Amino acid sequence: MRSNAKVSSISFDLLNSSQKKQAKQLHHLLAEIQLPELENDCHLSEFPLKVPKHFAKQIQLKNPTDPLLRQILPVNQELETNEHYKKDPVGDLDKNPLPSLIHKYYGRVLLIASPKCDIHCRYCFRRHFPYENQSNNRAWHQAIDYIQADDSIHEVILSGGDPMSLSENVLLKLSQKIESIQHVKTLRIHSRTPVVSPTDAAQKEWLEWAKTTALNIVLVVHCNHPNELSTQTHELFKRYQQAGLHLLNQTVLLRSINDSVDVLEKLSHALFAQSVMPYYLHQLDKVQGAAHFQVADQDALILHQALRERLPGYLVPKLVQEVAGEPFKTPLYELADENGI
Ligand SMILES: *Cc1c(COP(=O)(O)O)cnc(C)c1O
Ligand code: SF4
Repeated sequence: MRSNAKVSSISFDLLNSSQKKQAKQLHHLLAEIQLPELENDCHLSEFPLKVPKHFAKQIQLKNPTDPLLRQILPVNQELETNEHYKKDPVGDLDKNPLPSLIHKYYGRVLLIASPKCDIHCRYCFRRHFPYENQSNNRAWHQAIDYIQADDSIHEVILSGGDPMSLSENVLLKLSQKIESIQHVKTLRIHSRTPVVSPTDAAQKEWLEWAKTTALNIVLVVHCNHPNELSTQTHELFKRYQQAGLHLLNQTVLLRSINDSVDVLEKLSHALFAQSVMPYYLHQLDKVQGAAHFQVADQDALILHQALRERLPGYLVPKLVQEVAGEPFKTPLYELADENGI
């Protein structure tokens, strides 16, 4: 049995237990949103369907093109291979001084704080990342020693996976370790949990600590579509603000999901209404299985230009592409100039 089997072509009895679980979850989700026929378009993936309840509730019923549904449904298009789409498109595997640390940019290191996420986004560039043994205690001790020994590092970024999928106690301990390093001034957390599962991201004790620390704390949430925001996210972001966190958002530009000026304009306004500033709009990393989400560079540039015509400057996210080997996230405008787009 191939591990990436199309659902329509398999007999349930032949599945292993994790595949059976996945098949049941898929069946259940599609029944809930009243689209059972979509099962034929799906496969059982090594990167299985995973969707938190809150996010699932925001999916519209009977709408096969719902922008939230399309982000989590393991459709058969993922099985198409394309030589330009790789397993490690951003060169992260070359930049690990330690298993848990990526030191790619000056002054900032990225710590893989958790191997898990509450949701599996089908376009994710980390879907092929070998996470094993990267976020255990020993790996963290090594990472802390590395940061301690390099006083050019003033910002530690917790990423993953999703750092908010850690238990609160563990997140607190890790944050306090980072706080104890004198030259580190900023703790940044990149997390999709506050948006997709706000109840799991309300970490009371950690927020109490955040109120008292001298560190700047930046929380970069990850929201791709205005339908992902809710009264629950609004409440949560208010609490974050009260704890003194700086709230930013990053979005991945995704074909048929948010590649429209109306949607992106609405997203910026909706974020701002919940006190979150747009930060990055990422051109998709060319990761295997995600080719159907790709927006052409030229279209992305036209879209961004139109967005600039509609929004105040502070609500326009920076359109960037991560280029392996470059010392910063590269503005797409610069790449376009170089490549003559
Ligand atoms: C994106 C990223 C950062 C942060 O980049 P900023 O431009 O500061 O947001 C840091 N380290 C790694 C490895 C990254 O991928
Ligand atoms: S939450 Fe982030 S890291 Fe996790 S699957 Fe989604 S995009 Fe990838």
